[in-house]
Amino acid sequence: MVDTIYVENAINDHTRTALVLDRYPKAEVVGLEHYGEVFNSSKQNFRLQKHNPSLILAAKGGKRVMPTPAQYETGGGAHYYFSHMLNCVYDCRYCFLQGMLRSANYLLFVNYEDFMQDIRSVAEQHKGDDKPVWFFSGYDCDSLAYEPVTGFAEYFIHQFQHIDNAVLELRTKSTQIRSLLNTEPQDNVVVAYSLSPESIVSAVEKGAPPLSKRIEALKRLQDHGWRIGLRFDPIVWHADYLQDYEEAIPQVFESLKPDAIDSVTLGGFRLPKGFYKTMHNLHPEHWLFNAGLTEEEGMVVYRQDIEEQALKSVGELCERYVDERRVFAYSSFNAKEAEASGGM
Ligand code: SF4
Repeated sequence: MVDTIYVENAINDHTRTALVLDRYPKAEVVGLEHYGEVFNSSKQNFRLQKHNPSLILAAKGGKRVMPTPAQYETGGGAHYYFSHMLNCVYDCRYCFLQGMLRSANYLLFVNYEDFMQDIRSVAEQHKGDDKPVWFFSGYDCDSLAYEPVTGFAEYFIHQFQHIDNAVLELRTKSTQIRSLLNTEPQDNVVVAYSLSPESIVSAVEKGAPPLSKRIEALKRLQDHGWRIGLRFDPIVWHADYLQDYEEAIPQVFESLKPDAIDSVTLGGFRLPKGFYKTMHNLHPEHWLFNAGLTEEEGMVVYRQDIEEQALKSVGELCERYVDERRVFAYSSFNAKEAEASGGM
């Protein structure tokens, strides 16, 4: 439920603004010049706002499509990401958004057409590449969790039909897949699920669907003909983590057609030091921020021995089902660039 919706004056007449407002007839609507007046205000408390976030509708200016850090390798060509939304309906304890943003309000950029124009132009620059250029969504939000309100996937999937050298990856934990099941599958769209063992979901992925529901959604999508990807990222380490993954991984792969899985990626917990400090201050006692961590080039990550062991063990469990060439592990210790865990 959203009680207050802020709307930038410039997009008052945008069709998508009207569609979103129609979903919340009882919400108070407040006009503003620029979303930053509310979203970037210093007098906010992320944790308090998270209990009852407002919605902000705005237009994204400036750079809308960015190159991704190295860890998003999935076997495609050049990699980019874009964010039509900042913040998320779920509340994962490891999510970097709570360390990066002052506000927990949902900021939705309604100018999808401008995003598409930039995506087309980037794809055009890669016309001669051997492999298709990959565009990730869901870095600063969950790609599908707010779909009934945003119509995001429905719009972008349709638009990608017309770009023959590009792939759209929708990264999600959500079971909001109705629009995908009502759509003819497209070869250049991958629906990639972030997965964790059930014990991790209940401990640190508040509000997100249980593993069993994500598997069910993956299965329905795969049966419908969509390309699917699996993302064990972050692998959350604790004393019995391997036992948890030994249970979860067969549960995942044995419910699906492993040969038709597009790619599997693995990564450890990682946060820029500044984000980590903010998050640690919010939850000083939480085991997630106190177990097995070290600092590496400005990032807080698992100790090298822990990360190596986790990537190796979980990777080997996955390779029982899919060819190792489709399993991509991201190491914090030989990365040229680093980014935070969570988000996607
Ligand atoms: S990690 Fe992903 S699903 Fe979890 S709160 Fe962050 S954006 Fe949402």
